[in-house]
Amino acid sequence: MADTIFGKITRGEIPTEFLYEDEHCVVIRDIQPQAPTHVLIIPRKPISRLVDSQPEDQTLLGHLLIVAGKVADQLGVGDAFRLVINNGEGGGQTVFHLHLHILAGRDMAEGQLASGLN
Ligand code: 5GP
Repeated sequence: MADTIFGKITRGEIPTEFLYEDEHCVVIRDIQPQAPTHVLIIPRKPISRLVDSQPEDQTLLGHLLIVAGKVADQLGVGDAFRLVINNGEGGGQTVFHLHLHILAGRDMAEGQLASGLN
């Protein structure tokens, strides 16, 4: 896949504060927050879209969910957050390096399918 801004960020080529990092992923604040708390969990492995993930990515994808829960807790929003993955242009994806959004701090319960993004 083509390199993206998230590839550069995960490789440390663009200085960005990591709220959390480990060998598999980094967590950063979204540059254009859509909620008072809006952070991104980005795997170091460049997978373009969720739909492009493969069976060998199962452990990584599970890891990202575990990290999402832990980071949400650490940010004090563990009881009220939404986790979003946009897949493909039609799904609102703008950066084609898989990432998870944690959104919190506003009324996330409003509307069962309220996107929280866009
Ligand atoms: P997507 O629309 O692909 O699901 O989400 C991409 C997100 O990345 C957007 O919410 C956008 O604000 C954020 N974003 C794009 N470029 C940068 C950047 O250079 N730094 C940070 N921290 N966030 C970015």
